Amino acid sequence: MCCTASMGLLLAEEVQRRGLRDKIRLKKMIYGSERSSDSMRERIRDLLGLEAMYDIPGMTELYGPGTGLECSARRGIHYWADYYILEILDPDTLEPVEDGEVGEMVVTTLRKEGVPLIRYRTRDLTSIIPEPCKCGRIIPKHDRILGRSDDMFIFRAVNIYPGQIDSVLSEMSQIGSEFQVILDRTDHGMDNMTLRVERNINGNPVDDESLTDMVKKRIKERIMVTPLVEIVDYGGLPRSERKTRRVFDNREN
Ligand SMILES: [Zn+2]
Repeated sequence: MCCTASMGLLLAEEVQRRGLRDKIRLKKMIYGSERSSDSMRERIRDLLGLEAMYDIPGMTELYGPGTGLECSARRGIHYWADYYILEILDPDTLEPVEDGEVGEMVVTTLRKEGVPLIRYRTRDLTSIIPEPCKCGRIIPKHDRILGRSDDMFIFRAVNIYPGQIDSVLSEMSQIGSEFQVILDRTDHGMDNMTLRVERNINGNPVDDESLTDMVKKRIKERIMVTPLVEIVDYGGLPRSERKTRRVFDNREN
């Protein structure tokens, strides 16, 4: 089965509701074309009893769905390097970033005749994964799409993308999938970043202190900044529609 992630979840929940799981015998799913968290992926997999799921990125301007495909090693997307050249550039300077560093995907098509693209800025953020893949294929890989370059904000001289925060939070089962980032400046000119997250559905407020410490530690390790953390009840933040506003910048520019 090949579908978008939200269609996959809808289908999985419907299969569960009607008790059809043992009748459908679905083994593998290719899903993509939108941001989906690891927790969403696990939920689809559990509900349908799938053996494996593979992420498929796509872009209308670039051959449509399927500009690459995840493999069984589940560590990045093998992209079709014989069909387009992929460069990862710093969105501000437009200089190439090091392999492994996050930047904007810039593509040049090799086989498109009608609407060829030359160093086309996709605004999608990812990084090159330079290490050989465990699956044995030699087709190069980029990481999953982390977000959009136009969503970037700067906090204490660090460029941060909401997708990076999402990626750290998705690994923590104790919190819900929604979050907000609030940026403030104190009277002394100091910038503060408050990360507002939800307890998960079974969470207990007595654990808030240790949860706060854990969120701070993980963010610090991966994004090099220390946020203030505010924990709210499950369902306390607006649910994601097509594009939920997550960053609230109250600093004066
Ligand atoms: Zn592979």
